[in-house]
Amino acid sequence: PSAATQLHLSLAETAIAHNYEPLPVVLASGQGAWVTDVDGHRYLDCLAGYSALNFGHGHPRLTAAAQEQLARLTLTSRAFHNDRLGPFCRDLAELAGMDLVLPMNTGAEAVETALKVARKWGYERKGVAPDRATVIVADGNFHGRTTTIVSFSTDPVAREGFGPFTPGFRTVPYGDSAALEAAVDENTVAVLLEPIQGEAGVLLPPPGYLQAVRDVCTRENVLFIADEIQSGLGRTGTTFACEAEDVTPDIYVLGKALGGGIVPVSAVVSRHDVLDVIRPGSHGSTFGGNPLAAAVGHAVVELLRTGEYQARAAELGERLRGRLDELVGHGAVAVRSRGLWAGIDLDPALMTGRQACLRLLDRRILAKDTHGSTIRLAPPLVMEPTQLDWLCDQLTEALTRP
Ligand code: PLP
Repeated sequence: PSAATQLHLSLAETAIAHNYEPLPVVLASGQGAWVTDVDGHRYLDCLAGYSALNFGHGHPRLTAAAQEQLARLTLTSRAFHNDRLGPFCRDLAELAGMDLVLPMNTGAEAVETALKVARKWGYERKGVAPDRATVIVADGNFHGRTTTIVSFSTDPVAREGFGPFTPGFRTVPYGDSAALEAAVDENTVAVLLEPIQGEAGVLLPPPGYLQAVRDVCTRENVLFIADEIQSGLGRTGTTFACEAEDVTPDIYVLGKALGGGIVPVSAVVSRHDVLDVIRPGSHGSTFGGNPLAAAVGHAVVELLRTGEYQARAAELGERLRGRLDELVGHGAVAVRSRGLWAGIDLDPALMTGRQACLRLLDRRILAKDTHGSTIRLAPPLVMEPTQLDWLCDQLTEALTRP
């Protein structure tokens, strides 16, 4: 590595807590689907900030919204109103076909918020006995890193050393609606699911699953909370991944791309009858709903309202799909995708996911492994078809050339 790269790799050893194991590349700038490292090498960003950069790096509409707001007003706290939050929440609620938005910052915070809302709803509206509320979650879930959220993670590494854990969660196999139905009882207030499990390796549930979950929730008076933090906002070819089965949850949890890759913006989006259980003093955040976040979030909603990015994800996704299928038996044992989002299970006899990502790095492609032998691809939706073809060429060669 160059001296510049070496400096930053050694700082990562000495000055940054080791909660990640980054690939050895030090990025300094980005535009569209490209990023450039400190040595001037250009890479195609096929992770896109774990889908926070659906609109690419430096999208002109998003940076303009941020810059304009930066010069005007950045923070008021919710002790006062600001002139950005209302219009953002109105338009986000409309995009989601809901009534109200509760703004937060990170994904994990929004998940926590949805859980608090569901519990309170259970006690106040469903009549669940005090402190008895349970939430059903799925095996292999990823909803964030807070103490309550890791309490219902099924990943031992995410949990180890972080107990005691929060009670009130029941885990069922992902994709099995009969098991989910069997787990519901009078204390069940909500089902929390990713419509497609991202961190688990872009796992798609069997067709009909989301609809079956919707039916169980409606029948049993249980809230369906869809964590669309990674799957939502255009990634899968529709605004929300739930649309693939024409399903509307009771609560959407959004984050990542809602902040345009510029600022952390997350939100719980739902109906009056659900979110009205939150009253002044019962929940909040110093930065949640700040005018800078709202200005960027509003610009994101405006991009999504055109439908252009969803259509792009769908079209590019078709193209990607065709090429991924060719990898099965040639380095990969299975591929899954929806829109511009893919999980590629490598033949573990050939290489690990990390080794594959290091090979891709040499070929100027940034991608990230998950769960040992899977590579996840989530390129920016602004990617050009020729760039996608180049990605697929590099991927094919990285997996098949010794
Ligand atoms: N939920 C899902 C589905 C996610 O993929 C993630 C992040 O990867 C989160 C929640 C947590 O978001 P954050 O890292 O912003 O807390």
